[in-house]
Amino acid sequence: MPDTTLMTIPGQVDPVPVARDITPRDDGRIDLIGLSAARIRELFEEAGLDARQAKLRAKQVFHWLYHRGVTDFAAMSDIAKTMRPWLTERFVIGRPNVVEAQHSSDGTRKWLLQTDDGHDFEMVFIPDADRGTLCVSSQVGCTLNCTFCHTGTMRLVRNLTPGEIVGQVMLARDALGEWPKGKMDFAFADDESEESAAHYTADGRLLTNIVMMGMGEPLYNFDHVRDALNLVMDGDGLALSKRRITLSTSGVIPMMKRCGEEIGVNLAVSLHAVRKEVRDEIVPLNRKYGIEDLLQACADYPKASNARRITFEYVMLKDKNDSDDDARELVRLLRKFDLPAKVNLIPFNPWPGAGYECSAPDRIRAFSDIVFAGGISAPVRTPRGRDIDAACGQLKTSAHKKSRAERDRETASAG
Ligand code: SAH
Ligand code: SF4
Repeated sequence: MPDTTLMTIPGQVDPVPVARDITPRDDGRIDLIGLSAARIRELFEEAGLDARQAKLRAKQVFHWLYHRGVTDFAAMSDIAKTMRPWLTERFVIGRPNVVEAQHSSDGTRKWLLQTDDGHDFEMVFIPDADRGTLCVSSQVGCTLNCTFCHTGTMRLVRNLTPGEIVGQVMLARDALGEWPKGKMDFAFADDESEESAAHYTADGRLLTNIVMMGMGEPLYNFDHVRDALNLVMDGDGLALSKRRITLSTSGVIPMMKRCGEEIGVNLAVSLHAVRKEVRDEIVPLNRKYGIEDLLQACADYPKASNARRITFEYVMLKDKNDSDDDARELVRLLRKFDLPAKVNLIPFNPWPGAGYECSAPDRIRAFSDIVFAGGISAPVRTPRGRDIDAACGQLKTSAHKKSRAERDRETASAG
């Protein structure tokens, strides 16, 4: 496999994310997943189609890829039969490789995935009564080293490509069996088309929402996350509403405005502390981008309104950030910046070697009550998928692999 840019963690507060080109495949074919219709059209022209053909084929192929989820050109039934081998010779339709799929007793599902160049990352699906949320990763590891987060302890970091990001959503739809079934109604059908006249019906969906809350800091991989989410939101593609997508950032202020303008999804901000000393410790990025500047950037976030409130995530750490005074200070700050806000209180999910404990349930309730009394919604998030290490901040693939290897050794020695 060709080399890819691996990035060691360059420092706690001033990471330099290294964007990486798409790794060429050994067979020279190009993976179309992650590419826009315009780019696909360009590639078709470069491969020899005339402009009109390239435009038509790109539109058809785009629809099959992102709307129908097909992974084989042979299944693109409205494309001329002679054309399909032409596509197969030059292009592929990729998916992240699945290393392992796990099911939690509460219905949460986690997938350990792998890039073509051998890096592990994870995605999590959390079903609820009224929605199903896919938690998507943006990087392998994270450069930011928040002290309570397992992902932040991973040594190797690389940005995921747009194809690897949107590929998670496509893989989830594969696994959940959620691509529209039946025949396809497509205005550009060929004469040779076998299935041009009928139309398909979209089934009731399990996957309704996406949160960029898996591994990594999405705003340190801005271009790829933007391109991937634009494919997710494209009406001719996966067609998920931006109102159903939330991007979570630990507070990369310089990218927040562009996030609102160029992606336009809901924003979640990992606040976690209201005092400088505490936030400096647990979210080291705070030494670079402080609390007040962060809240000002939230107040300036394009399209934030009462209808589209900003979510503040607040992990409950025993004796660290969970006092009544902290709760009152949180209310004061959110009021001061006049933010359309809600607060998600996240019970800390422990991991081996973490130097923190979760606040006691009655402490969390008292904290929540104070914030509610201040006029701000502050529900306590129920941890999900803890038994398979799928909960917030528990994603760390190398640890899982190690413990699996250890388990294997234990099994072997026991046998
Ligand atoms: N890097 C982004 C998005 C990924 S983290 C960010 O930090 O916002 C998603 C959420 O999980 C963040 O709010 C993060 O702070 C929280 N989290 C991380 N580790 C956690 C842990 N051990 N217990 C509970 N929440 C955690
Ligand atoms: Fe990175 Fe978010 Fe974890 Fe902090 S909480 S280390 S920003 S993934």
